[in-house]
Amino acid sequence: MSTSINLAVIPGDGIGQEVVAQGLKVLAAVLPQDVKLETREYDLGAQRWHRTGETLPDAELEALKAHDAILLGAIGDPSVPSGVLERGLLLKLRFAFDHFVNLRPSKLFPNTDTPLAGRPEIDFVVVREGTEGPYTGNGGSLRTGTPAEVATEVSVNTAYGVERVVRDAYERAAARPRKKLTLVHKNNVLVYAGHMWKNIFDTVGREYPQVTTDYLHVDAATIFFVTQPERFDVIVTDNLFGDILTDLAAAVTGGIGLAASGNINPTGAFPSMFEPVHGSAPDIAGTGKADPTATVLSVALMLRHLGREELAVRIEDAVAADLAERDGTFRSTDRIGDALAARVAG
Ligand code: ATP
Ligand code: MG
Repeated sequence: MSTSINLAVIPGDGIGQEVVAQGLKVLAAVLPQDVKLETREYDLGAQRWHRTGETLPDAELEALKAHDAILLGAIGDPSVPSGVLERGLLLKLRFAFDHFVNLRPSKLFPNTDTPLAGRPEIDFVVVREGTEGPYTGNGGSLRTGTPAEVATEVSVNTAYGVERVVRDAYERAAARPRKKLTLVHKNNVLVYAGHMWKNIFDTVGREYPQVTTDYLHVDAATIFFVTQPERFDVIVTDNLFGDILTDLAAAVTGGIGLAASGNINPTGAFPSMFEPVHGSAPDIAGTGKADPTATVLSVALMLRHLGREELAVRIEDAVAADLAERDGTFRSTDRIGDALAARVAG
């Protein structure tokens, strides 16, 4: 295993800056002395766009390729027209680095709030396809603004793209104690894509006889996320359904301040990118109210991806212990970061 980590850091906008600082603090504290951490910060996001009009210049895209992984805070600001940074930066990175696995674990930690009655056991992982579906920018409209306007947004699903993410999900399910994989789609209405997903899911599944499988329509899945979340272990789904389901999952497991994610290229051909699910939260930026825990948990996902499982577990245990001791007293972003850093170090 490599004894150094060469990390690209994109703090981004709003609370992105604040939470990334805490993520790096905990990372520095958890790494053994013989692992050298090198970081390079990239100035990308709303401020850069205002200054130069650039979102992600090719030279920086090229430079990013040389890193072992990318840690991202959050990108976006109300002063930038909607879509500019999402398409020009976030989606551009995802597509250029072929982040076809968007990984979002959902776990209800002890002593955290859930709106669900009876505090069910929740510990599942959503594997969301990251490069296809309706997010590829296929479609169009003449933008006439007239009552006759027609807009299309084409969902692209390739057998190649579906197979590789489904296979990744089976691998993840096979490695977990419960070994259960649920496909979520809508194949009663979206019949072309839906049947391809289901066929590939069934075919690949023959190679994983130890994994129990299940299929749910996405509308039914939203019900079960709320009424029976304990039935889920690993979920695989397309880009759009995964986007929506994972926000719901975050909401039932203690909120957006705890939800971590990884945009992963499992082949290792390009660096994977780890980020909290939440956005730049301009409403609380600069107030110290941002919870850095989602970013710290994203650092754990990153370490796991880099083959350092024991460090990932140490961070996750520290988060669980920190959450267990929370009593509602306000702690600033910094203080939470300090507490987590102290726990992983000690
Ligand atoms: P984006 O479009 O970038 O995803 P969004 O509009 O979905 O952004 P967020 O920036 O995620 O919104 O913020 C949604 C709400 O959650 C806001 O009220 C924000 O203050 C709150 N929030 C987001 N992240 C955190 C955090 N880490 N700690 C505490 N509150 C947060
Ligand atoms: Mg959002």
